[in-house]
Amino acid sequence: MPSSKTELEKEIHIYLFKGAIWAGLVSVLILAAILFNIMIGESPVLALNIAILYMSPLLCTFVFAAVIMKMYSADEISNRVLLVYLVLLEASWLFLILMIFDSYNELFLGDAALSGVESLMDILVLTFAIALFPDRRVMLMGVLPFMLLSIVLRVNEIPDNYLFPLTKFVCFLAIIITGQKVLFTWFERAIVRDVEKQHLLKYFRQVALIDGLTNISNRRHFDEVLSQEIRAAERNKHPLSVILIDVDYFKKLNDSLGHQVGDECLIELAKVLMSIANRPRDLAARYGGEEFVILLPDTDLNGSQLIAGKLKLALSEARLIHPDSAVSDLVTVSQGVCLWQQGMRPEDLMGCADKLLYQAKSTGRDRFITS
Ligand code: GH3
Ligand code: MG
Ligand code: MG
Repeated sequence: MPSSKTELEKEIHIYLFKGAIWAGLVSVLILAAILFNIMIGESPVLALNIAILYMSPLLCTFVFAAVIMKMYSADEISNRVLLVYLVLLEASWLFLILMIFDSYNELFLGDAALSGVESLMDILVLTFAIALFPDRRVMLMGVLPFMLLSIVLRVNEIPDNYLFPLTKFVCFLAIIITGQKVLFTWFERAIVRDVEKQHLLKYFRQVALIDGLTNISNRRHFDEVLSQEIRAAERNKHPLSVILIDVDYFKKLNDSLGHQVGDECLIELAKVLMSIANRPRDLAARYGGEEFVILLPDTDLNGSQLIAGKLKLALSEARLIHPDSAVSDLVTVSQGVCLWQQGMRPEDLMGCADKLLYQAKSTGRDRFITS
């Protein structure tokens, strides 16, 4: 389960990636708006030719981004590649702005060119601030060049009025930095809550499906998996076996050694079962009290008998003392081994295993009976 910190770093990367893509799409929109303005301008053909030439670095950046995105997913693209893309996007915009400003200064008299590129830079500052908010340093890297160029151009064009661009710069910076902080706090809280929710869900799932004493699957989980495996066996025509297991004279063990030793015995037995049912889809579960069950998909009677024999052997090797058993000095189990037949419902299969277990009990215990 990932910690909040690693999850936060991962999410920052993903949201930066999404933001960078969004900034690219918005850039396309702004480019279209610029082209539209040029087309209805005074000398559209000449201006259009020049504009397209100046737009070529931006267009190359879009191609670069499209190729990278086609080749890799968000997780695979490193922060460094993302930064390269952002720097290219930024530099292409700065180049285009300077070129537009230069050409328009020649075409128009007065401050038309200045106010045009200032509006464009304000839009870009807004775009980059929103797109890159998950990382303050990256966001400042995105917005500061436009803000600084805006000041330089204005102070250069109208040297008398330097106070206005300066106060605008300070206000913009204050809004962007404090706004980023507010947004990031919400973002961080949402991620932390999400990680906590995942931990809780995992815990609840564990409580719902795992037996508290033995730490193996409980009856609820077993019932769920049994229904699924019966459907799979029906579909694939593969064999499916179940072994129902009951500890012999367990009440006597509790009476002679105490309930706690009885609990420890169940824990040890569960470990033995887990070591026996070790194929990926095998499932060992506590069926209730001192009864356990093993579900064996893709296993016929030969295979399940083998498992029942292995359990008998492994349990004798575990040497769990039982002073009051009528069949051995050690803890033993009786087992009912049943093979699923076409048309059998879960309750039919368990009923069959229960009947065979009863036969194993009545014919002397410490044995398994197969269907
Ligand atoms: P048999 O050989 O016929 O199976 O006899 P048995 O004594 O094992 O069967 P019985 O059903 O009479 O007793 C089962 C006992 O298991 C009774 C109950 O107190 C005990 N038991 C059930 N759950 C737990 C548990 O979680 N911990 C402990 N220590 N004992 C449990
Ligand atoms: Mg019992
Ligand atoms: Mg018993």
